[in-house]
Amino acid sequence: MASDLPEELELLQQTVRDYVKEHVAPHAAKYDESESFPEVPYAKARELGLTAVNVPEAQGGTAMGTLAGSLIVEEISRVCPATAVTLSVHNSLVCGPIAKYGNEEQKKRFLPKLASGEWLGAYCLSEAGAGTDAADQSTKAVRQGDSFVLDGAKLWITSGSHAGLYLVFARTSPPPDAEHRSRGVTCFVVERTTPGLSVGKKEQKLGIRASPTTEIVLDRCVVPAANVLGEVDKGFRIAMDTLDAGRIGIASQALGIAQGCLDESLKYAQERRQFGRAIAEFQAIQWKLADMATQIDAARLLTRRAARMRDAGEPCGKEAAMAKLFASTLSNRAADDAVQIHGSAGYSRDYRVERLFRDARITEIYEGTTEAQRMVVARALLG
Ligand SMILES: Cc1cc2nc3c(=O)[nH]c(=O)nc-3n(C[C@H](O)[C@H](O)[C@H](O)COP(=O)(O)OP(=O)(O)OC[C@H]3O[C@@H](n4cnc5c(N)ncnc54)[C@H](O)[C@@H]3O)c2cc1C
Repeated sequence: MASDLPEELELLQQTVRDYVKEHVAPHAAKYDESESFPEVPYAKARELGLTAVNVPEAQGGTAMGTLAGSLIVEEISRVCPATAVTLSVHNSLVCGPIAKYGNEEQKKRFLPKLASGEWLGAYCLSEAGAGTDAADQSTKAVRQGDSFVLDGAKLWITSGSHAGLYLVFARTSPPPDAEHRSRGVTCFVVERTTPGLSVGKKEQKLGIRASPTTEIVLDRCVVPAANVLGEVDKGFRIAMDTLDAGRIGIASQALGIAQGCLDESLKYAQERRQFGRAIAEFQAIQWKLADMATQIDAARLLTRRAARMRDAGEPCGKEAAMAKLFASTLSNRAADDAVQIHGSAGYSRDYRVERLFRDARITEIYEGTTEAQRMVVARALLG
């Protein structure tokens, strides 16, 4: 099928493919093994403007939007899902909401350094007791003159140790009742250098090991009231609207992982010979490849539909959840099949599918679990 992308996005896609080949692929296994931040791929991503797609041109961005972000994440995830999620969180969960909800002064202060990648963004919603039930926030923010004092701990924060800017959600008012716990939460933009913000424990993970996931501790952290994004007590809406965009990013990550599994499996199945012929000649292998390719196309259509809706300013909560649900379950099936096609080689770190198999698992967990996506879709269906 001919590409349905406009010329500028086809150009971007090709640029990212070249970048991945030259600056990501040679390093991905090494960063995974050492569980270290992908410094070289990130530095080059900054140079190429891959950190600027959700920033308006007035603040140094390219304003290319959600579909562009999706293409970037998909292409990088074929080879290094950890580098891809670093950019996905930065673009969708941090630059996006500041560009959308920030006032002019906030955009001027925060967006140029995010666009250039000098500041990497982190999104701090989850806590020990607030996972799927994200409204159950116990981090507190108390008004003191022109500031708020934040106390609490955020868990599982992507890029926590490397970020320059954090979007932090905290409770500013008690909820009116148990049914409405999403009320009374405020979104704060917090600079890394703010006294009282520190990086806590780093998680030891199964996959995306080059993406540092840490605790963020807020201990009498004094944040100027001028750093409130949107309105006081109304931050939970920003959190949820932002996650619609984030889920398109994770759907793109899952899609890229599945495509990477197909790329590797096609190659291996034609090289590996058993019973005197390439294993690609066996129907059992062909059916796996055919199913993978078919479902990848479906995931891509769902993901790009959601991205286009987001770019058009249409509500896309249901479509983003459908894309993430479908693409993330697919990526795990595709990774499982890819390891099977590789036989013992697929169980070895010498082959990329071993890493993709571990990396695929997270796509069903973060930015809302598979169960949470089904809840979003069902709620939209049932009204
Ligand atoms: C590597 C990694 C990176 C992350 N990055 C970030 C980040 O940058 N920022 C951030 O804020 N958070 C981040 N998270 C947190 C992540 O979004 C949460 O872990 C996720 O939302 C799930 O929450 P939980 O782990 O508390 O699971 P729980 O909510 O405890 O769920 C456990 C299980 O119960 C199921 N469940 C829960 N409620 C229901 C229900 N009502 N109906 C049916 N099933 C239900 C869940 O689907 C899941 O299967 C990250 C997590 C990981 C692992």
